[in-house]
Parts: sequence; C-alpha cells; structure tokens
Amino acid sequence: MKRPAVDLATCTLCMGCVEVCPEVFSLNDAGYIAVAELAAYPFDPVTEAIKYCPVDAITWEEA
Ligand code: SF4
Repeated sequence: MKRPAVDLATCTLCMGCVEVCPEVFSLNDAGYIAVAELAAYPFDPVTEAIKYCPVDAITWEEA
C-alpha cells in the first residue's frame, strides 16, 4: 500500500495540503503537518495536495 509522507524539513506550513485534503493532512499539536493513519488513502485528493504543495514536500511512499 502507498501512503503519503511529508518531508517536515522542507514543509513551510503553508497549510495548502490541509485545505485541499483535510481527511489526510492536519496540523498537529507540535506544529507539524501530520498524516492520518488510514487503511487506504484517497488517491485523487492526495495527488491534488502533492501538486498543490509549493515546495514539493509531499510524496507517495510504500507503507
Ligand atoms: S502543502 Fe506542502 S508546504 Fe504546505 S503545509 Fe502541506 S506539506 Fe507543508
């Protein structure tokens, strides 16, 4: 299964992914983007978030 991963060192916290795909991406209490633990990830919204991310911090990874 593939799951999205966020490179926290690259992420600028623009919140774009949270706006585009809130079911997967959120801002956690530590102030970083968190990826929800899901059995399966919605391909189209995550792909949209990947395209939307201005610094290309989101990628698909093999889980
Ligand atoms: S869209 Fe990219 S830079 Fe913006 S919060 Fe999400 S991962 Fe970070």
